[in-house]
Amino acid sequence: MNIPFVDLKTQYQGIKEDIKAVIDNVLEECAFVGGPYVKSFEKNFLEVHGAQYGIGCANGTSAITVALRALGVGPGDEVITVTNTFIATVEAIVEVGATPVLVDCDADTYLMTAAKVEEKIGPKTKAIIPVHLYGNACPMDELVHLANRYKLMIVEDCAQAHLCHFDSQAVGTFGEAGTFSFYPGKNLGAYGDAGFVTVNSEDLEKRVRMEIDHGRTSKYEHELSAGNFRMDGLQGAILDVKLKHLKDWTEKRQKWAQRYNQAFIKEGFKVIKSVEKGECVYHLYVIEVANRDEVMTCLQDADIACGIHYPIPLHKQKALERYNLRGGDFSNSERSATTMLSLPIFPELSEGQVDYIIEKFLKIAKRV
Ligand SMILES: *Cc1c(COP(=O)(O)O)cnc(C)c1O
Repeated sequence: MNIPFVDLKTQYQGIKEDIKAVIDNVLEECAFVGGPYVKSFEKNFLEVHGAQYGIGCANGTSAITVALRALGVGPGDEVITVTNTFIATVEAIVEVGATPVLVDCDADTYLMTAAKVEEKIGPKTKAIIPVHLYGNACPMDELVHLANRYKLMIVEDCAQAHLCHFDSQAVGTFGEAGTFSFYPGKNLGAYGDAGFVTVNSEDLEKRVRMEIDHGRTSKYEHELSAGNFRMDGLQGAILDVKLKHLKDWTEKRQKWAQRYNQAFIKEGFKVIKSVEKGECVYHLYVIEVANRDEVMTCLQDADIACGIHYPIPLHKQKALERYNLRGGDFSNSERSATTMLSLPIFPELSEGQVDYIIEKFLKIAKRV
């Protein structure tokens, strides 16, 4: 049995006819950049998240960048996020000229907490970026409360958390802005790069739109020198087709995660914990083991693909050296970076495959 980490080929086989039809439409209409297909997707994506304002863009990294820019975050400002995230979260902070400040994650949820953020708030702190890592919803009640107390803005990084809810409200709708990635391997993936920004007001949507499209107020009137971060028509059309399956795909991810959880908890392993009122949509299924190299070798020998997300916390990355981010206690992120393993989790898995992975994993894995 050969089990890939993500199976985009099988997924494509199931939706091929619909995808080919819309690609043909986009080509016939030459609706290549923005246009009616992107508009339709924007409307539908907002609707499933219960969001009112938002706009598609080029990718998940530029989504964070344009959100910060539209909010006026720039040089002289500090933005707090977690050290255990994909580097894009911090790249966006750097891109707008602000200074990244990193906090450790919680030991059990692997998420930002208000207590850890509060320790690093200073006079220059302008915004926080909670990351709903692995598709696990951050404790948005305490983070919103904290942001209100210190007058900070919130940009939620929802790149791994499409259709994920906290207290029955979709992530991406708690702060000033929420940002999504449609990188092909994400829970909702384009056939190339694409992203999305949800925002909490019409005025902010207008500003984000300008940041995405050359600072335009009309075709050749530019209020800002902003750049080009637009979504392609083909990606909008493809995403609109795939969006119809997102709920079903999310439930399947959760179903496989529960099957893993049951088997692993019984053997005393620690599995991703959600915060009270929060859910997890399992972009990744991570689990800490004491003998990671050994487990990875065994799984690979059994033709089971696995990964590490992420092996180096950002405070230790060479790319960010000049920000002197190493000060402070990052013990949860540092421990999990050395013990954490990601097992295959995608909707198209079968019960037989999941049970095979469980069997091979339990044969060799040791608890931390
Ligand atoms: C994927 C990802 C991004 C970046 O998205 P791209 O579309 O690849 O630019 C940002 N943040 C997190 C947490 C991600 O997982």
